[in-house]
Amino acid sequence: MLRGMWTTLKSMFEKPVTIQYPEEKRQVRTRFRGRHVLKRYDNGLERCIGCALCAAACPADAIFVEASENTDEARFSPGERYASTYEINMIRCIFCGYCEDACPTEAIVLGDNYELSFVERNGSIYTREMLLEPVSDGGAPTPQQTEPGKFTRSVPEMKDPQD
Ligand code: SF4
Ligand code: SF4
Repeated sequence: MLRGMWTTLKSMFEKPVTIQYPEEKRQVRTRFRGRHVLKRYDNGLERCIGCALCAAACPADAIFVEASENTDEARFSPGERYASTYEINMIRCIFCGYCEDACPTEAIVLGDNYELSFVERNGSIYTREMLLEPVSDGGAPTPQQTEPGKFTRSVPEMKDPQD
C-alpha cells in the first residue's frame, strides 16, 4: 500500500504526458502523413498540371482529376493544362502516399493536418479549392495573365536524385 501511495505522490509532481487538445496541439513527426495539400510555386501558379498520374497510382481509387487548357490570359499552372477539378475522397484514402510519389511536379503532398472529421458523407470529398495552399508573399492568385511563351514547360527542370 505504501509503495502505491509513493507512486501516486511522485506522479503528482511529474510533468503530465497529456495535452489540452484542441486548445493545445501536438507537433507531428517529420514523416507524418496527414491531409493532402496542393502546392503552388512562389509566383502563385499551381504546381498541379492535371496529368492524373496520382489518380492512376492511387490503390484506393480515391482521387478524381479533370484537366482543362491553360491560356496566357488565364493561366493556373505552367504548361498546357491544369486541374480544373481535383477531388480526394477521404473515406477511401488510406494515406499510403503513392499519389505523392507519382506526381511529376511535387504538387500533391501529404501535410501535417490530422483534423479530418466531418458529419456528412459529402464532407469527405476534399475539393481543389479546399486542398490548394494559400498564395505566399510575393505571389499572385490564379488565374494569372502571363507573358506569352514564358510558361510552356509543364514539368520544371529537376536535379538528378541523389543516392
Ligand atoms: S494517400 Fe494513397 S490512398 Fe490516399 S489518395 Fe494518395 S494514393 Fe490514394
Ligand atoms: S497532383 Fe501531380 S500527379 Fe496529380 S494531377 Fe496534379 S500534377 Fe498530376
